[in-house]
Amino acid sequence: LSPRDAEIIQLVRTAGAMSKSELARQTGLSRTGVGSRLAVLREMGLLEELGEGPSSGGRPPSLVRFASDGGSVVAVDMGATSVDVAVTNLAAEPLVHLAQDIDVREGPKGVLNTTTDLVDQVLAASPHAAGRLKGIAVGLPGPVEFLTGRPVAPPIMPGWDQYPVRELFEDRYGCRTFVDNDVNLMALGELWAGAAARVQDLLWVKLGTGIGCGIISQGAAFRGISGCAGDIGHIELGGDTTVCRCGNLGCLEAVAGGEALAMRAEGLALSGESRSLARMLDERGSLRAEDLGVAAQEGDVAAVELVRSAGRAVGAVLASLVNFYNPEMIVIGGGVSRLGVRLLASIREAVYRRSLPLATRDLVLTGSALGELAGVTGGGAMVLGELYGLSPAGS
Ligand SMILES: [Zn+2]
Repeated sequence: LSPRDAEIIQLVRTAGAMSKSELARQTGLSRTGVGSRLAVLREMGLLEELGEGPSSGGRPPSLVRFASDGGSVVAVDMGATSVDVAVTNLAAEPLVHLAQDIDVREGPKGVLNTTTDLVDQVLAASPHAAGRLKGIAVGLPGPVEFLTGRPVAPPIMPGWDQYPVRELFEDRYGCRTFVDNDVNLMALGELWAGAAARVQDLLWVKLGTGIGCGIISQGAAFRGISGCAGDIGHIELGGDTTVCRCGNLGCLEAVAGGEALAMRAEGLALSGESRSLARMLDERGSLRAEDLGVAAQEGDVAAVELVRSAGRAVGAVLASLVNFYNPEMIVIGGGVSRLGVRLLASIREAVYRRSLPLATRDLVLTGSALGELAGVTGGGAMVLGELYGLSPAGS
């Protein structure tokens, strides 16, 4: 798509509907020039005729609008323990969504087989969209070199280093595929359709098995020179000596990541410090981070303190990021973010206590408005941005 075409689409999409003469006025193109561009964009399924608008005396102008349903995108959001797959329309709205538990440590072959099965299923469930697939987005829970679409030494994904993820999808589905770190998709999704509409500088923090941060700078994803910007899970917490799987001591992820919290919850159950957790461990034989949230909700003192200490650890790291980056908004998402209001409250308290007053003056710190759909929404948004230069409608 040429920059001119992208400009036309963005103008029409933002305005809702536009006439040819208004487009000519705003782009500086001749009416004939606009007409031929519109014909191409209609052919591509990106714009559609809306009929005639109100007349201002002469012949009523014919209007065009952005064709949200003129095509579709497949979005894959892979976490360490589950994968979400959706078909979205050209407004990045998920139309069909499926999720399945996986273990990303089993390696790329099996996990990607499961994933493409899900893609086949969502496409079969929306045959109208399947014939007009424009592109595919894949989010992975580790560092990704965006240019090659390959994961690079992802710490929680053994066997995935340099695996040709993009080629696999392009060969199978015959359309452009973009592979990125999952948090970058989530941040984009929040910008397009969530809590961060019209936000220019955003940090989207995923608290899951791993901890990562999607960075939006001036309205666009900031990936860094190698694609690992925002890998905040291995920032060192002063004074903590927990051993992290990366080999270092006191990493944020080793203290507040999903697996770390599950292990600490089991510790509280076995030592008898938490009755709620001991009961759950008895019932099921192992604990997950979510169980900690349930126990804290029940008012279990030890569980509440563990949730609070995780919040303080996350907050301490975020306070440094706030001083460094001065974002307008921080969104907290991911499975561990659902541990309850105490977690967000502790994070907020630590951030406000430890950041500079000027850096927090206009800061909004909130949960995700999209929840588990943030990643697939952002996948749709990423493909639209990469293929057509589209940015969130409100910005
Ligand atoms: Zn580490």
